This record gives sequence, structure tokens and C-alpha cells, in this order.
Amino acid sequence: MSRVEVDRERCVGSGTCEALAPDVFEVDDDGVLVVHRPEPGEDERNDVEDAVQACPTRALSLAE
Ligand code: SF4
Repeated sequence: MSRVEVDRERCVGSGTCEALAPDVFEVDDDGVLVVHRPEPGEDERNDVEDAVQACPTRALSLAE
């Protein structure tokens, strides 16, 4: 699958991505997004694509 990229300037730590794909994303105690699996498996594709779409600040993208 594609690689997850985060625009740190845009991320506000809302946790929306974590709610949709908790194995891939986690907002830590300081509100900083941690991407546990920057190259998610095919079985996670739908959840990750949903997270990319749902991010309120468009901080997430998928790169080939
Ligand atoms: S949904 Fe977007 S703004 Fe919220 S934590 Fe994830 S990347 Fe950051």
C-alpha cells in the first residue's frame, strides 16, 4: 500500500485518524500524532483512506 505522510504544520491532534485506524495512528499524551505503521497493510487500506478523508485539517496524505 501507499505510504502515509503527515503535514505536521497542519495536524492539530484531533485524534480523528486514531479513531478510524487505531493500529496505524495514535495521538500521544502531548497531543502529537504518532504513525505506528507508515506503510499499512492492504487489510488496513480502507480504514487509512477513511482517516485521510476525515482529517479536519487535511494533514494526511498517501504517497506512492
Ligand atoms: S485527524 Fe488530522 S489533525 Fe487529527 S490527529 Fe489525525 S492527522 Fe492530526
